[in-house]
Amino acid sequence: MSIKRTLHTLGDGLATLFFPRLCLNCQSSVAAGQQPQLCIPCSNDLALTDHWLLPENAVTDKFVGRLPITFGAALLSFSVGTVCQQLIHALKYYHRPEVGVQLGQQLGTLIKDHPALQDLNGIVPVPIHPKRRHERGYNQAEKIAEGMAMVLRKPVYPDALKRVVFKGSQTKRTRYERVENTQESFGLGKGDFANQHLLIVDDVLTTGATVDFCGNVLLKGHEGLRLGVATLAIAE
Ligand SMILES: [Zn+2]
Repeated sequence: MSIKRTLHTLGDGLATLFFPRLCLNCQSSVAAGQQPQLCIPCSNDLALTDHWLLPENAVTDKFVGRLPITFGAALLSFSVGTVCQQLIHALKYYHRPEVGVQLGQQLGTLIKDHPALQDLNGIVPVPIHPKRRHERGYNQAEKIAEGMAMVLRKPVYPDALKRVVFKGSQTKRTRYERVENTQESFGLGKGDFANQHLLIVDDVLTTGATVDFCGNVLLKGHEGLRLGVATLAIAE
């Protein structure tokens, strides 16, 4: 074992002594090496979808008639009160960026050999608002993309899309319109992706409106571009 590795292991041991590793769902203690940090029963409670093996599934269904996609997959099934929800909350609200990386690696491993992804050129995480990014310290979709990229060995393009900051006055808008406006203001970012095949990555797919909007921005901006969609979870 190298000195660096030994120190790292020693550091892990000390960290565990002072800050025991607790399950992100039920707070019982967790053995080192469990990724994401869940105890065995909670880990077994995670509902994997397995649906990416089907050409038509819950993810592709969301985009029929809205966004043409080559591939659609979500790793987990999301509903309120599940272990999946706790993991997403840890990633988004409790500063656990590693959860995104770890689950991204799992998703990447599962879809790596899918025939539809063999000509993939890169991964595009859905951007978050700069203010949110500042508060959180990272974009959770970028963390997921990072984990996937380790396995798929493709570049991540975090600047392919950008949040468009609304310049006009919002005071005359209704609250609903303002929310819509902040949620769906995406513009074309940097890079030339003509005739490429990219995978859009986000955390949870609910209505699909955000990915739909982002995907159409990319398709309009790059001739011959093809898009797949992969998320950590899909809301049931
Ligand atoms: Zn647990």
